[in-house]
Amino acid sequence: MIDLEAERALTPGCIDQVFLDSAGSSLPTTRTLEVVIGHLRREAEIGGYRAAAERADDLAALPASIGRLLGCDPDLVALADSATRAWSLFVTALPWKPGDRILICGNEYASNAITLLQRARFDGCQVDVVPTGPDGEIDLDAMAAMLDERVRLVSLVHVATNSGHVSKIPEVVELAHAFGALVLLDACQSIGQLGVDVGALGVDALSATGRKWLRAPRGTGFLYIRREVLADLEPAAADLRGGEWTGTTSYTLRPDAARFELWEHDVAGRLGLKDAVDHLLDLGIDDVERDVRDRADALRTGLAHVPGVEIRDVGKDLSGLVTFTVAAAEPDQVKARLLEAGVTVSVSSASSTLLDMRERGLESVVRASPHYFVSPDQIDQAVTAVEKIAR
Ligand SMILES: *Cc1c(COP(=O)(O)O)cnc(C)c1O
Repeated sequence: MIDLEAERALTPGCIDQVFLDSAGSSLPTTRTLEVVIGHLRREAEIGGYRAAAERADDLAALPASIGRLLGCDPDLVALADSATRAWSLFVTALPWKPGDRILICGNEYASNAITLLQRARFDGCQVDVVPTGPDGEIDLDAMAAMLDERVRLVSLVHVATNSGHVSKIPEVVELAHAFGALVLLDACQSIGQLGVDVGALGVDALSATGRKWLRAPRGTGFLYIRREVLADLEPAAADLRGGEWTGTTSYTLRPDAARFELWEHDVAGRLGLKDAVDHLLDLGIDDVERDVRDRADALRTGLAHVPGVEIRDVGKDLSGLVTFTVAAAEPDQVKARLLEAGVTVSVSSASSTLLDMRERGLESVVRASPHYFVSPDQIDQAVTAVEKIAR
């Protein structure tokens, strides 16, 4: 069980406000904050190279911490500066050729879609959308009918940016693999709030960010690549971290996923990421998931009873993102008025998840995403604050 009071004491940012934006950019612990600031201070005292050398052991252990979180070996983890970067490192490493097909789903994230549409423009690929069933799940029959040997990649989103729904992944992966397609999973909104095991999911690659549910500093993220796939992949632009210049016209690449990394990076940010991931591992992801779901369920149930509020999450398996609209006010107004009442939420607009929002005729939704450090009392406060706006 998570000691709520102890966790709240480690998170001063959650005391004076009801913080419901861990799907946007969460609150780090004071310990993580001190790790980051302490390292920046050390860099100013002795220079960045010596400061990094002092922390070499912790930096080298970061992939192992992430590997424990994902259930994979550390050499399959590449560190990046965001989820989008991690995701596009994988996509741009694939050897695209004209006529290759890419399948995306209704909950695709804008940044991913833009990168894929660039593949269509630059490389002559074709991007097609797999329909979603009324239950919010990918329509497997429709997908089977769309698959052929030209489909090189299926892009899946585990939890969309505008809904708590957790997509079923293993069945989709199995189907894609039967046609020889690779599966890339955007786990940006699931890592840190849900147990994620890359072996059980079966995906070929997975991307995630630090600043959301992991409570790590901004500018951090990572990519997992399945071993069998990694061997054949070359990053579009390797540097002297991922490769070695061995002769006038020759170079070699590292054997591990770090071939996708660049030499220069935010060392303080990575130390902060390590601290945040280790904290989560200490708490136990199962306990974190249970508490996040508990808070989100309480919020969703509370809001569902407020006249004039409509819950916008579709599907059965709903996680820590609670999305809703209020008849009496636009989402931006709801966000502003909640902030006045001491409740921090965000707004997810159609441009982030265009296909899904257009299909449902939505311009934007309010998104409230409670982490385990939000107290049950604060959830009640948030419901009361929404009630006042909805009147
Ligand atoms: C936030 C988000 C991203 C992008 O993460 P960055 O770290 O900002 O690149 C990608 N996919 C989903 C579903 C997201 O919610």
